[in-house]
Amino acid sequence: MTAMVRAERVRKSFGPVEVLKGIDLEVERGQVLCLLGPSGSGKSTFLRCINHLERVDGGRLTVDGELVGYRRDGHRLRELTVRETSAQRARIGMVFQRFNLFPHLTALENVVEAPLRVHRRRRPEVVAEAHELLARVGLADKADLHPAALSGGQQQRVAIARALAMHPELMLFDEPTSALDPELVGDVLDVMRDLARDGMTMVVVTHEIGFAREVADRVVFMDDGVVVEQGPPDEVLTRPQHERTRAFLSKVL
Ligand code: ADP
Ligand code: MG
Repeated sequence: MTAMVRAERVRKSFGPVEVLKGIDLEVERGQVLCLLGPSGSGKSTFLRCINHLERVDGGRLTVDGELVGYRRDGHRLRELTVRETSAQRARIGMVFQRFNLFPHLTALENVVEAPLRVHRRRRPEVVAEAHELLARVGLADKADLHPAALSGGQQQRVAIARALAMHPELMLFDEPTSALDPELVGDVLDVMRDLARDGMTMVVVTHEIGFAREVADRVVFMDDGVVVEQGPPDEVLTRPQHERTRAFLSKVL
């Protein structure tokens, strides 16, 4: 079976600074991978490479067997066109630390925007589905409110519903709860836990060790652009083999 995400020796530099120094990892379909590591270790950059917001400089990165950003034509490798890139990206949902909702649109309008614009689906059907998605994230009664009238946790749940409206095969989360007040974190993690239980393939950058322990199939610990250690949560979080992992865990636990 093809892995949903496969990274082989993935490298990325910004100018002279090498930020990803040969990342190897795999995410199987239906699995949840939690990516941990100190600030600056390259976690966000790696996520951004997966949906081609950053271009990899070396190695090989595939999503569902397709090279990210490139296509092989015979013996030649060519870059995807803009249209091909957006088609590739439309299969991946991304949720950021900051909620990035459109402030002038209601929760419902935020959710229907992309399926209407990108997939050109019919509005009544998309609206009905958006109501279902808002109910799924616990916001059935907030459809007509603007982001400013919602708490951070509610906004983040709208952002998740908005990503799901595109029917992604893969969801990427970049510290989705880091900007939230502590009492709002639980509701967002609950939604993510349900999503994982329903079989969504997910890559989650997080410092929520409890969530990683409970939900992740694999945990990857990154530091300074390399994968220091990876394995089942039970191994990496309970019996880390590397000093750098132990030092990190002792700070976040
Ligand atoms: P993390 O998410 O683990 O905190 P990042 O992937 O955001 O780490 O950043 C890794 C390193 O790459 C940092 O040193 C950061 O300053 C650098 N970096 C990230 N994005 C850019 C960019 N667009 N241009 C230059 N440097 C960048
Ligand atoms: Mg980051």
